[in-house]
Parts: sequence; C-alpha cells; structure tokens
Amino acid sequence: MDNNTESIRERLLKRREELRQRASEASADLRHESDPLSADFAEQVTQRENDDVLGAISSSARAELLQVESALRRLASGRYTTCRVCAGDIEPERLAAVPYTDCCRACAESAGTGRMQAGRGAHR
Ligand SMILES: [Zn+2]
Repeated sequence: MDNNTESIRERLLKRREELRQRASEASADLRHESDPLSADFAEQVTQRENDDVLGAISSSARAELLQVESALRRLASGRYTTCRVCAGDIEPERLAAVPYTDCCRACAESAGTGRMQAGRGAHR
C-alpha cells in the first residue's frame, strides 16, 4: 500500500468515525434518552419537529456511512480508483473532492441525467 492510499484510508476511517458518532448521537436524541417527551403539548410539538430534523441527519449520515464503508472495501481490494460503471479510472481530483465516490465524472453525470429523465417520465 503506497503513502497516497494510506492517507486516503486514514481520511475515510476518520470520516467513518465522525459519521458513526453523528448517526448514534442523533438516534440517541430521537429515543429521548436524556430528554423525555414533555407533558406540555406545545413543547411536544417542538420536540417532534426537532425529531424530524434529527431523523434527516441520522439517515443522511447513515447513507454517507455506507458509501464510506464501501470505499474502504474497494480500497482494500485495490478497486478504489476503478469506476463501478465503465471500469475506467476515476479522476484523482474527483476522488480528492469526494473520497467515497465509486464512479468517474462522466458516469456520475450520465447517471444524474438518467435519474432526472426517469423522474420526468414517471409524471407523464
Ligand atoms: Zn465511469
């Protein structure tokens, strides 16, 4: 493993820790472990709105966590810089910007357009 791969791995591991912590803090708050639901109705409404925000934080942290974990697996198997879609090389600057990406810029862009077209089609 070269120095570059090692520093990417450290970056991903650090990110994984942050995300794990964020996801578990958000779900601990959601369970009201340190903050039971108030008896006051107005207070409860505020708490439930807060729960929606926490739920969104928790699910986005979890989604990113899965991507980081898959990047770590690809790193371990030497496929980290290989595009999942076209099997070409992912641009180094793209990996620097999004260390857990699994496809090259061209594939990411065509996947993005594909989803938008599918979305428009569903409304027809
Ligand atoms: Zn590609």
